[in-house]
Amino acid sequence: MRSIYIGDAGVPVQYMQLALNRAGYTVPINGEFTRDTCKALGAFLGGSAGCYADTSVWLKLIPYLQGYTTHIIMQGDTLWNIAEQYHTSLSAIVTANPSVEASNLQAGTRIYVPYAFSLVSEEVPYTSEFTQLIIEGLQIRYPFLSTGCIGKSVMGNELNYIRLGRGGTQVSYNASFHANEWITTPVLLKFTEEYAAAYADREALYGTDSAWLFENYSLYLIPMVNPDGVNLVNGVLGEGAYQAKARQIAEAYPSIPYPDGWKANINGVDLNLQFPAGWEQAREIKAAQGYTSPAPRDYVGEAPVSEPESRAMYDFTNANNFQLILAYHTQGEVIYWKYLDYEPENSRQIADYFGSVSGYLVEETPYASGHAGYKDWFIQQYNLPGYTIEVGIGENPLRMSQFSSIYEDNKLILLGGMTQIVGKSS
Ligand SMILES: [Zn+2]
Repeated sequence: MRSIYIGDAGVPVQYMQLALNRAGYTVPINGEFTRDTCKALGAFLGGSAGCYADTSVWLKLIPYLQGYTTHIIMQGDTLWNIAEQYHTSLSAIVTANPSVEASNLQAGTRIYVPYAFSLVSEEVPYTSEFTQLIIEGLQIRYPFLSTGCIGKSVMGNELNYIRLGRGGTQVSYNASFHANEWITTPVLLKFTEEYAAAYADREALYGTDSAWLFENYSLYLIPMVNPDGVNLVNGVLGEGAYQAKARQIAEAYPSIPYPDGWKANINGVDLNLQFPAGWEQAREIKAAQGYTSPAPRDYVGEAPVSEPESRAMYDFTNANNFQLILAYHTQGEVIYWKYLDYEPENSRQIADYFGSVSGYLVEETPYASGHAGYKDWFIQQYNLPGYTIEVGIGENPLRMSQFSSIYEDNKLILLGGMTQIVGKSS
């Protein structure tokens, strides 16, 4: 996290305020580094602090963004009194430390202690760094998750995936292909947390046996396909060469707000117009609309999968055996399920099911935006069900105040992406 000082405003200030609240120092999460925020920070640090957060201060705040701390076991400790000491639950500690025997604690052993709060915040915007902290934190809390990297962005940010389950039927969900649609990232992260928590506690996930899900499906989530673009929209890109180039690209499109209207990756290529399914048609349609070179949105790039982020999604998809994909976008409360005349088996029924549990409309993609998308390519290439889900209503980027209703609308879609493909095991 970058250093911040009193008077600063922005998303990193919100992260500091979130951490302070979680640590018990109540302050509004408004992104403004005011006197009150400084007071809370001083109390958190023990009184003698200046009004800033540099690397050493962030080191103390970050456990509250990752959701855990560590504890070295001392003579006489029990997991029960450690849980009491950190105001957390015994079961959270047991889950995070599968190799530790509660009845045979070894002094000197370092264990993970998850805090009591939910990790996936509904109060702050999501940047790539924050997303990565959460993924790492979820991995510590729930060691049965696996995580990895499918490639890197233009600027070298990792494109992370999370895998849940060990079943033969693979499905994959992605979010934040488009920069100013970053609210889709916490949708996938919250589903991950809810599923993992249910599995750890042997509870049902929205009415479905979570252990059965885990044994029968392998769910791969890519929560942020376009981290550089998301960072641009959320104001954490910094003032380097990439920012300068993006601003220059945007200046040629004065009707598109900057950075709020930015959908592309940091090179000005729309990653969801990069796939080899009608890419030439997409190029013609977008050229007729005036997008023939790098732009905040709607430029198809020089060739299909010419950008590292779209290439990573393409390669990762080809390397696996996904039976269904969900591509999360904003906005409109619409589900797109078709590409041209391709109509994979059951894809219409599943779309209707998604529509019924979410209240979203089920529609065919309008011709002008109906080519070269990830889901278009998946349907054409594999003849299997693929969906673009446009969540929420309003102007992008949607605000987190809409998040809880978006999540409520989508949780049964996220579950149904697995359970609706009955008998389609690989
Ligand atoms: Zn989109």
